[in-house]
Amino acid sequence: MRIILFGPPGSGKGTQAQLLCNKFHMPKISTGDILRAHIADGTPIGQKFEKMIAAGQLVPDEEIIALLTERLQAVDCQGGFLLDGFPRTVKQAEALDKSGILIDCIIYITVSDEDIITRLSGRWIHLASGRVYHPEFNPPKVPNVDDVTGEPLVQREDDKEAVIHRRLQIYHRETEPLVNWYRERWADKLIDIAGLGSVQAIQNAILKALVNKEQAS
Ligand code: AMP
Repeated sequence: MRIILFGPPGSGKGTQAQLLCNKFHMPKISTGDILRAHIADGTPIGQKFEKMIAAGQLVPDEEIIALLTERLQAVDCQGGFLLDGFPRTVKQAEALDKSGILIDCIIYITVSDEDIITRLSGRWIHLASGRVYHPEFNPPKVPNVDDVTGEPLVQREDDKEAVIHRRLQIYHRETEPLVNWYRERWADKLIDIAGLGSVQAIQNAILKALVNKEQAS
């Protein structure tokens, strides 16, 4: 299966992506995680985009398309993958389309701006894996520590409230138009999911929609 998981920052797509990838044994390809790994390793790409990412701006299309294309060529992606955080602009969606990689479904999670601000400002992540926690909605077993590795959790620079507003503005301007872009081309592949409720309830809704889609095709 090749899946795009799409939605505003803080819609819970990172968490849902991880659960789906664990269930279906496929790699989660998050362009945000790839960029954060470059920053943590101090690579030229990391150094070039660190400030931009901390400020909540989008990395230029050409460079993110190149990073993603390279990642999708890896052996672990040959049997399928889940894209989290890509595409984020119509230009990126067009590039994916032109690459000839056929996507099976696009899961679109919706959440109000108000809920996003509450969620993101309390979000903690495990940097190496991209696992996401929230003290209220998805707490780690031990406070401030990753469930799997026991390593400390960190708060993202771009999860500060002023930056969240900027990211939401950019989302509405650059990324939201993708919904109609996909609806016009592949309405049959688009799955709408309301991102409200517990992590498990949303996961169940996604799994049910995937089964329904499978049965319909
Ligand atoms: P994320 O972890 O998906 O929220 O991504 C964190 C940040 O990385 C974003 O706010 C952007 O600065 C950058 N980024 C991640 N994916 C993309 C993308 N597809 N296009 C442009 N910038 C991206």
